[in-house]
Amino acid sequence: MIRIGIDVGGTQIKVGAVTDGGRLLASAAVPTGAGRPYTAMIDDMAGCVAQLLARLDARPEALSMIGVGLPGYVDNERGLAVNCTNLNWIDVPVRAALGRYYGCPVLLENDANAAAIAEGRVGAAAGCASCVMITLGTGVGSAILLDGRVWRGSHGVAGELGHMTVVPGGLHCNCGRSGCADRYCSATALAAQGRQACLMYGDSAMLAMAGGDPAAVTAKMVTEAARAGDRAALAAFGDYTRHLATLVDNVISLLDPEVVLLGGGVSRAGAFLLDAVKALIPPCDMGQRRPLPRIALAALGNEAGMIGAALLE
Ligand SMILES: [Zn+2]
Repeated sequence: MIRIGIDVGGTQIKVGAVTDGGRLLASAAVPTGAGRPYTAMIDDMAGCVAQLLARLDARPEALSMIGVGLPGYVDNERGLAVNCTNLNWIDVPVRAALGRYYGCPVLLENDANAAAIAEGRVGAAAGCASCVMITLGTGVGSAILLDGRVWRGSHGVAGELGHMTVVPGGLHCNCGRSGCADRYCSATALAAQGRQACLMYGDSAMLAMAGGDPAAVTAKMVTEAARAGDRAALAAFGDYTRHLATLVDNVISLLDPEVVLLGGGVSRAGAFLLDAVKALIPPCDMGQRRPLPRIALAALGNEAGMIGAALLE
């Protein structure tokens, strides 16, 4: 049997055919085109599924399920995308709409949870009892797995690490608070810190990478220039990792998980990021060495969302 995992992102809808064991057999993608009627996006998803079936020379009857990872709040009981701000979706009946094309069960999950499920089953946290995954992208996404299952909290809103305070009284956040991790630990934040450092230092290698325009500095340029020893980039990267380490340290204090995974765009900096964060986690608590979780990079990259959606049950 074939499982289908659909990862609905801000720019792309990725669709994968996956085995029961979590192996990706084939994948297809279409532009999200956010703002279109949802029916048009569902049409595109169904079209990708048909494409994959044709490529695998399989019939629709071979599908055991379709899982959909969505960027927002979902209600899997009712088969609804309750609120996906970036897609402009409120109470969209995803299960019913996809059910018009395929007769198999359709399951829904939040995209960050789907990615964590994949890492927990076949990725960097495979075999671990507990895992917190932090995704460093446009914003800070996160998910908590306890005993292999997503911890949703008693009202379904647990694991919103992006809106935990890392700088009391800090930058204003869209959520209404200030000093949120989203504003200090996302790729967006790293790029902003790089831009600021360019203005302060003036002679940064980041400026050359950005064609002389500070506004064109990206998170990737900051990590590359920092790795090469650029002073301005090192200052920005140092601030960034300090805030990220504060977030990770809070997570450890709260949950003592077996592993903390860092994923998303900034995690492509690899060991350079990981080592910097690890070095900033206090090794002692009340004068005693404390047991720390493994802190590691997510392993499945862009495929995690698709694979995790396909492994929903
Ligand atoms: Zn916030």
